[in-house]
Amino acid sequence: MIRMSGTRLARPGAYFCSACIEDDWRKYGMSYWKRKHQLPGMYTCPMHATALQYVKDDSAFIEAPARCISSSHTVDPGWARSQHDHADVQNFLQLSVALASSSQPLDLRPVRALLREKARAFGIASHPKSTAKNKLSDLIASRFPKQWLEAVFPPVLAKRQGQIFTQLDGVLYCSTCSSSIVAYLLGISVLFCSADQALEIFQSDFSASLPSVARRRRQLKKTLPDAKTIIDHYIRSRGNHPQMAREFGVSLSTIKAHLYSMGLPNLRRRGDKEQRVYVAAKNFYVHEMSLVESAENANVEIAELERVLRVAGANFSTVLTEMEPSTSMTMRLRGAVNNTYLRAPE
Ligand SMILES: [Zn+2]
Repeated sequence: MIRMSGTRLARPGAYFCSACIEDDWRKYGMSYWKRKHQLPGMYTCPMHATALQYVKDDSAFIEAPARCISSSHTVDPGWARSQHDHADVQNFLQLSVALASSSQPLDLRPVRALLREKARAFGIASHPKSTAKNKLSDLIASRFPKQWLEAVFPPVLAKRQGQIFTQLDGVLYCSTCSSSIVAYLLGISVLFCSADQALEIFQSDFSASLPSVARRRRQLKKTLPDAKTIIDHYIRSRGNHPQMAREFGVSLSTIKAHLYSMGLPNLRRRGDKEQRVYVAAKNFYVHEMSLVESAENANVEIAELERVLRVAGANFSTVLTEMEPSTSMTMRLRGAVNNTYLRAPE
């Protein structure tokens, strides 16, 4: 079961190197699949500098690689060598190998913030509405060999020069892990001088050097009115975050972050004319009903009301976390990139 369902494939097919198989025979008496050979973009054995061989059948991993020699194809040696020697491809592969062997995953949020900072320094658009003409996807397309890039990241075939291409540019602004790990690695490869420089930063406590939450809040305040005006709008809109975002001309995520920091939850649910969450919150705080009564009376799930109460108690929650310093460390590990290469070996 573990051998069948525990394997996570990084690319189609099963790759191996004949020289590695011979080494394994000498050392261990049998041959093993090498994880390095399965990494996207790897067509040359990094140990022997020879073109890799492959079989198209993914289930080949169940047997030893030596069993596949007779039915295998070989990557064109001249092509493999020229791609492998390309400086940016080297950076990409070095990063892939190092991150695949790291002992813990990287947190997506500081990685994204770091990439965004680097992109801004290059004059690259760091979000979809940016007026900067340079796009990260254009830089990637211009730096990597075309054929290699299309093999590693096939969606790039749909990329148009100068246009935002979310599958690559999204690594700078998407708040979920919707971009593939290859997209992150391509971005990191072109935004840093070398793989060594990037790895040195990732292996340090790099999130500490990024703008602090307090600094980001100060920056936010510059674009938003004072607290009293915000509360007036919140009351008038009955806690309607999307409406407030429109009124202040800022993104929903910006207003949400600010209102959450003030302990003001969104009381408006899409398509809910009766504003049941607002009624439930009022039952709890104003009419002093119990949590269960408040939710049932307003026909709201208890979990939904709890979410609202947690936002309302945000400042209290921060204080509680500070009383237990180890908790904040656990929180930092949340939202880690959920992908093979940024995870510890499994
Ligand atoms: Zn080899």
